[in-house]
Amino acid sequence: MATRKPLPSILRADRPAMRSFVYESLPTRVLFGVGSLDQLPTEIDRLGCRRALVLASSSARAEAVVRRLGSRAAGVYDKAVMHVPVDTARAARDEARRLDADLSVAVGGGSTIGLAKAIALETGLPILAIPTTFSGSEMTPIWGLTESGAKRTGRDAKVLPRTVIYDPALTLTLPPTVAGPSGMNAIAHCIEALYAENANPIVSLMAEEGIRALAESLPRVVSNPGDVEAHATVLYGAWLAGACLGSVGMALHHKLCHTLGGSFNLPHAETHTVILPHAAAYNSAAAPEAMRRVQRALGDAKNAAAGLYALARRLHAPKALKDLGLQAGDLDRAADLATQSPYYNPRPVTREGVRALLEQAFHGRPPDG
Ligand code: NAD
Repeated sequence: MATRKPLPSILRADRPAMRSFVYESLPTRVLFGVGSLDQLPTEIDRLGCRRALVLASSSARAEAVVRRLGSRAAGVYDKAVMHVPVDTARAARDEARRLDADLSVAVGGGSTIGLAKAIALETGLPILAIPTTFSGSEMTPIWGLTESGAKRTGRDAKVLPRTVIYDPALTLTLPPTVAGPSGMNAIAHCIEALYAENANPIVSLMAEEGIRALAESLPRVVSNPGDVEAHATVLYGAWLAGACLGSVGMALHHKLCHTLGGSFNLPHAETHTVILPHAAAYNSAAAPEAMRRVQRALGDAKNAAAGLYALARRLHAPKALKDLGLQAGDLDRAADLATQSPYYNPRPVTREGVRALLEQAFHGRPPDG
């Protein structure tokens, strides 16, 4: 008797129903690998550019790039700072004009890449990004500018870097205290992508794989900062995470971190690290399929929220908002600000629910559930 062949997995009844979706790929060219920074001159020629302004937050990182650029280097602006203050953006843009630059080469974390985006937003100057943290900004068309203590953000195709060079040798100098939270920031992009309003199967594949790569290799980067293989896997995960952030909308977690960073000046990656397990707990019942994928990507976690909390402990990363500079008296205002205007989240956002979430995160307690 002929045995029946198993159905292809896409037709099995236990597979979640395929929803309608829209997927749009972003046109960035990506080079990845140890030593890929050596391709920089060729990549600049490929873009048809001749006079690069190098942006950085440290002169040492700028120097490593300038050395490779030779006559293609028009100048250096190495005063990039967190959250792109408008004055810094203006000064860098003026420098680009003075030097008659035809390209920004941003070497650094989200702050430096953000500065290149601010210049591009106004002048259209193309960007070649060389990320040295795991922020993911290099893969997104999202810009941010801070003026009088308030951060504005938006999306614009002209700020999306044309080319990104990921060289894992460049992240070896990250102190573990920066690397751990920066990696958790990347995981946050993946998690919110899995339950995004406009989630789609391709981005969800990238998100799950991104969490897996980051969760598996971040502890190795933190315990052995010289492990270049581990750095390469983290950077691969950060790339996927950035692509998720650039492709689909985010929800409560990013909204809370934006509020805490923008209105209370809390540090970006550390705030993501503290909030993430609590945001996952808040959304767990409303996004069961996403959470199942997070749990699977984290390995043997009891549930997504508990797994994220445990991972952050393995990274010796901060766990309480009170240790990042928030005061107990700020919690009510933070809850008000984060719930003031409506936005998509799998579970409805209530002031009471957000206030309770912030209370847990303030004290660094394990997430609910
Ligand atoms: P960052 O760029 O400020 O870098 C953190 C610190 O690490 C800085 O002191 C920097 O000098 C240092 N550093 C960077 N690379 C290093 C290296 N290889 N070795 C040693 N030190 C190094 O921080 P970040 O977390 O990368 O970025 C945060 C900023 O980026 C925030 O303003 C955030 O809003 C923004 N961001 C934007 C997007 C987007 O899509 N627009 C995405 C993520 C983050």
